[in-house]
Amino acid sequence: MESNATILIVDDAQYNLKILSNMLSNQGYKVIEANNGIDAIALTKTHIPNLILLDIKMPNMNGYQVCRSLKKDAITHHIPIIFISAIENVEEKVEAFSMGGVDFINKPFHLIEVLARVETHLRVSSLQAQLLEQTRMLESQNVILKKQLSTLTGFDWSLHAEIQTAIELDQMELFYQPIVNFQTNQLSGFEALLRWRHPDRGVVTPIHFIEIIEATELIYSVGRWVIETACKQLREWKGNFPDQQDLTMSVNVSTKQISEFNLVLYISEILDKYEIKPNCLKLEITESTVMGDQDRTMQILHQLKDLGVQFCIDDFGTGYSSLRRLTDFPIDILKIDRSFIYNGEWVIVKAIASLAFSLGKEVVVEGIETLEQLEVLKKLFYLSLSSSYGQGYLYSKPLDCLGVVQFLKTHQVF
Ligand SMILES: [Mg+2]
Repeated sequence: MESNATILIVDDAQYNLKILSNMLSNQGYKVIEANNGIDAIALTKTHIPNLILLDIKMPNMNGYQVCRSLKKDAITHHIPIIFISAIENVEEKVEAFSMGGVDFINKPFHLIEVLARVETHLRVSSLQAQLLEQTRMLESQNVILKKQLSTLTGFDWSLHAEIQTAIELDQMELFYQPIVNFQTNQLSGFEALLRWRHPDRGVVTPIHFIEIIEATELIYSVGRWVIETACKQLREWKGNFPDQQDLTMSVNVSTKQISEFNLVLYISEILDKYEIKPNCLKLEITESTVMGDQDRTMQILHQLKDLGVQFCIDDFGTGYSSLRRLTDFPIDILKIDRSFIYNGEWVIVKAIASLAFSLGKEVVVEGIETLEQLEVLKKLFYLSLSSSYGQGYLYSKPLDCLGVVQFLKTHQVF
């Protein structure tokens, strides 16, 4: 970012303007110049430079006056100003800082020093801007969270506390349900599913607790734990089963998690840490995430897509989607909701699949329980079997880690 920055140089001495301008231009900066205070203020307002090098001693309007004027203006007050002057007097230097200057360079200046100071202050200023943006985002998320909490009727605080304790005691666990390709009948990957191994109640499915996790800040820590645990497992299985290098891992991600601070960085670090090929990680999002009108969601999905991860829309067909969104968002896979299979609504299944295939996307059919259902699906999808996958009890229920290892040893082709 810094090397694309625009720098305004203000000096009444033409010679100084020229050498500073040449040096900074040679470094790739965009340079604008002013040889008096009035022009400097006008140029700052029209060009909003990223940094200003400002001479103190100038006729008519000196550097301090220019600085004071810019610091008073809401549009220009954030721009870092480095004073340049032959002044040796300490009081005057102190005054430069009290005016809002960020640094001071003595004349005659050394180009290398000017460059180092310019780079440092551009970096500081860019980090400050990022921090400000993230703080704004966190504040708005807090407002949403508080609203959600207050509108949640009968929020179960004791269950919330119980879940917190369960997390601390490592009672949360991932189970993995196999996903199988229709053409090869081979295992393609797993969907990671959260479970709570409750000391008294046994294995509890998320339907009993996910609402509380998603409504509170727990979603961020649990969400990250799920992503890391699933990737770590995938790495381990690929290490132990050398013929399973293309195995994929699908992870459910909520709308709130998508807008979490640094999610993109987090995922890219996890992929590096466990040496997972990005296209082996599939993030399952819901129709409501895609339908949210936030530009930020779109931006983050595209950043994740740039990493190379894949996106599935989960439970497709049960929510509200616009077809436009399906093409705007970087979606790779539609997961057809289990209810259509359970109810034998084959016309809908066929329509969703045709839509997916004609948009160049793949399909995963959820909730396949019987051979008859599989036969119907294979007939419906016969032209695109290689892009079609199934998931459900017919292949396997969700398995714990030991179950997966057993499964990988015995059930690689159906
Ligand atoms: Mg899912």
